[in-house]
Amino acid sequence: MSVKRAYNFNAGPSALPLPVLQLAQQELTDFKGTGMSVMELSHRSKEFENVLNHAKETLTELLSIPDTHEILFLQGGASLQFSMIPMNFLGKDQVGAFVLTGAWSEKALKEAKKVGETTVVASTKEENYRSIPTLDRAALPSNTAYLHITSNNTIFGTQWAEYPKFENIDLIADMSSDILCRPIDVSKFSLIYAGAQKNLGPSGVTVVIIKKDLLKRIPANLPTMLDYNTHIKSNSLYNTPPTFGIYMLSLVLDWIKEQGGVTVVAENNKKKAELIYSSIDKSNGFYTPHATNDSRSLMNVTFTLPNEELTAAFLAQSKEQGFVGLAGHRSVGGCRASIYNAVPLEACQALAAFMDEFASVHA
Ligand SMILES: *Cc1c(COP(=O)(O)O)cnc(C)c1O
Repeated sequence: MSVKRAYNFNAGPSALPLPVLQLAQQELTDFKGTGMSVMELSHRSKEFENVLNHAKETLTELLSIPDTHEILFLQGGASLQFSMIPMNFLGKDQVGAFVLTGAWSEKALKEAKKVGETTVVASTKEENYRSIPTLDRAALPSNTAYLHITSNNTIFGTQWAEYPKFENIDLIADMSSDILCRPIDVSKFSLIYAGAQKNLGPSGVTVVIIKKDLLKRIPANLPTMLDYNTHIKSNSLYNTPPTFGIYMLSLVLDWIKEQGGVTVVAENNKKKAELIYSSIDKSNGFYTPHATNDSRSLMNVTFTLPNEELTAAFLAQSKEQGFVGLAGHRSVGGCRASIYNAVPLEACQALAAFMDEFASVHA
């Protein structure tokens, strides 16, 4: 069966792997002989618990998650994590340290400020977040509760090439837009969180990978649903979880494993990104990259054209040719191609060819 698929460069929700969608379609009305859809199963059933545990096992394998860490599937998006993290881990006499690298870091900081004391230890706001700043240990207060970073800046198209690592500092990362895009050393992080709708599956599930050590810091009497311990104790089944989303996530994780795992996916992502960055770089200034070279994202490629008219023409023509989601965020302008794991190489080749052609006609 051939399917007409868009060249989907949406920033999120975004492309899902076609084989995943097809398998979900196949299993939709009768999941593994139950005579029910996954959506119709009890979240307390053995069948659903198997789905959830399979997703955890596959993620553990793909990221080599050590048994010092636990995986949670929560609701409320990455945005609820902005609040839950300080509520659970920003103690009274402590300071939450934030690196500002874009709009999502700012939002994380804003929510932490409502809970306790915070400080900005580095920022590239003055240059409209073109790059990732360097970090100095001296900037971290002695009573730092944790250091919060955004590993990939979805809107600005920048990504940490190397994560900061300071002894005795709990590192917390929002990996919503680049989790599983490349191998990482999970043991270096105290908490990783990611809304699923960019690189993991559909919206509605948030993956949290949390170091169990951290749990003893959680204050008593937090609202039950906002206390990480609640979800740890119940294997993310305290209340009804987003069952279909967790099922889709498990299929996406299986798909990554079938590709050869995160290392293979990372090589592919590098090829995809190089195609588009190379169209920018060889355009003699027709396309201007937003990110500096050392901070370029593998997941979101941001660039501008010489003026508004050309940008509008580029977007209109690209739409005619089947490209979706290329308009940039208003805070950067221009264009953005989000090339998450599920975006095929072929779509990036087509976009690079379109960019070359458009530049040759209009430069
Ligand atoms: C999309 C995004 C968010 C917001 O995620 P929600 O799940 O919509 O709350 C947060 N951080 C980053 C880096 C993002 O890309």
